[in-house]
Amino acid sequence: MLIGGCLCGAVRYSADAPIYPPTLCHCKSCRRASGAHAVGWYTVPPSGLRYLAATPVERESSPGVFRAYCPGCFSPLTYRNVQRANEIDVTIASLDDPAEAPPADHIYMSDSAGWDSPADGLPQHRGTRPPNG
Ligand SMILES: [Zn+2]
Ligand SMILES: [Zn+2]
Repeated sequence: MLIGGCLCGAVRYSADAPIYPPTLCHCKSCRRASGAHAVGWYTVPPSGLRYLAATPVERESSPGVFRAYCPGCFSPLTYRNVQRANEIDVTIASLDDPAEAPPADHIYMSDSAGWDSPADGLPQHRGTRPPNG
């Protein structure tokens, strides 16, 4: 069981184990939505994410894509795409212990900032993770 929340503590959640290896996304929309050069995500079924206090507010950041933030401190918390209705992505950085969801690779490196050159040895994909990647 994973436990996390936002910066101000209004939103707290528990989450089931990730259903895929977590990833670091370098896409332009994650960058703009978070103010960071990359965003770490882990994925659970929607039923596997339970809010324990306040509920985040969602806004549609692209057609069919909803990002959720704490209504008090605006920490980025989740991402969901209506085309992937059985999944919700949660920010690794919102975990009380981010080491519990270590990323396996980097995605959307084609969008990365010019100086953004990960040196952690993890696989780097230009777009999404390949089917067997
Ligand atoms: Zn907050
Ligand atoms: Zn992204």
